[in-house]
Amino acid sequence: MSEKYWPETVILWGAGATKSLGLHATKELMQLISKISRGDFSFLKGKNEKLAGAFKKLIVEDLIEDSKISEIYDLRALEAIVNTNNKINMHELFTLLDQLIDNNMGFNAFVNGRTQFLRAERVKAARRCLILIIEELERFSIQNVPGYTDREKMEPYYEFAKVLTDLMIEEAQAFENRNYKRNTRRFYLFSYAIISFNWDPVILWNLFNVHKERNQNPIKLKDGLKLQLYDDFGTQISSTQLDDGESGICYVTDEPQCKSINDYNYPSRIIRIGKILFPHGMFGTRICPECGKSIISFAEKWDRLSTEIFGPSILKPLQKNWKYTTEKEKLYERGAIECPYCGQITYPYDMNLIIQSLSKKRNAPILEELKTEMGLLMKNAKHIIFAGYSLPIDDIMVKTFFMSSISGSDKHKLKCTILNYDKEYENSGWLKGKNILEYIKKSRNNSAAECIDNICDIFPLENIRVNLSGIPDVFMEKGKCSRSKVIDLLYPEEYFNGGFPIRRG
Ligand SMILES: [Zn+2]
Repeated sequence: MSEKYWPETVILWGAGATKSLGLHATKELMQLISKISRGDFSFLKGKNEKLAGAFKKLIVEDLIEDSKISEIYDLRALEAIVNTNNKINMHELFTLLDQLIDNNMGFNAFVNGRTQFLRAERVKAARRCLILIIEELERFSIQNVPGYTDREKMEPYYEFAKVLTDLMIEEAQAFENRNYKRNTRRFYLFSYAIISFNWDPVILWNLFNVHKERNQNPIKLKDGLKLQLYDDFGTQISSTQLDDGESGICYVTDEPQCKSINDYNYPSRIIRIGKILFPHGMFGTRICPECGKSIISFAEKWDRLSTEIFGPSILKPLQKNWKYTTEKEKLYERGAIECPYCGQITYPYDMNLIIQSLSKKRNAPILEELKTEMGLLMKNAKHIIFAGYSLPIDDIMVKTFFMSSISGSDKHKLKCTILNYDKEYENSGWLKGKNILEYIKKSRNNSAAECIDNICDIFPLENIRVNLSGIPDVFMEKGKCSRSKVIDLLYPEEYFNGGFPIRRG
């Protein structure tokens, strides 16, 4: 028999969800890359001077003058490709680069009145440079002062993570009262899951920190055992742990561990886990080029406002708090992370960022595995929330993946919540039924309306509700994250009989 219990609510976390922190959506990233390619640095105005100075130094000095760096990350080649067509979008750019690389072909660039031929190796180096700049741009944008994010802007996300965590503790108590067996999913699996299509680890980092806080001071269940909460990435991912100078492998908690810890015969503590997936990859993670394992490095600090979770930068001042820990890392620096399995050094270009491109190349096995897990989560969900995630309008592959994921579900039972932002509708509350259609009709050429229209193709209209107040405002009330709003967002009574805590039959 197949597993009966899955997270009831699946949150699809997209660019719109972290926009308020200064992070950019794909479209804006492309605009910035075009600007950089034209030598236009006007976007640095208003930023912290040290950061702005370091960012410019990275682009105009390190990536150009450092002979080793500029060969690995070929900015000149990237500029030539981008400047041949200033209307190219990010999906097209990745598809173009992937196609050339797959076929081992070079690129003929006509720029500044002359033709320049880039050999295949340079096209590869241009792609590496593109990924590097995306990561550097996002890490740069989220820093308020060197090394830290803005406390005030981050606060709603931290509070949101706190409410989610407290709900999962309450859920444990309710499930215990109903005698759900602790070593089964019915008890230990969170009733929500997050699938982040963003590369930024903001939501993960906040949840990690709140889980850690609660785990250090845990509540006790009826028989006196402590309850602790962890995150499950949907695949094995590990980091280096330093103990007395001896490095070892540290694994992130997963389901088999959950089952054995919660074993009734060996009571020690009780754990619950929530699924949080990054199917498009995440900044700061690497796939080892030698052994193929997926690794992450948290560095040393657990400061929730520190940007360390974004991984090391190739330029120290752009990630001030990062400390290289192993001997090899100290030797190579420049974004190096040592693989705890085989000792190979990984670099920022070993980060596997996926952007939907039409290239037929298969992803790294680990990302394929995540895609399968994502399909299962969608298929078994009872409620899907599009949190600032827009199905890329021009990307037929994503849309069809969604359609096939939920094709076996009874669509009349599957509910859908869409969170987006439209200034004119920010105080309109929930839109339903014909109000949604009216909104779409009225708001032509508006990206929120296009996104909603696209999702309406997949779900029956009567099962959709829309809120346009944006994230984080949708769960805030008088400047604070509202518990009742979060409950209504994730477990609305109209969708779940009895609301929260939900019943698992
Ligand atoms: Zn390795």
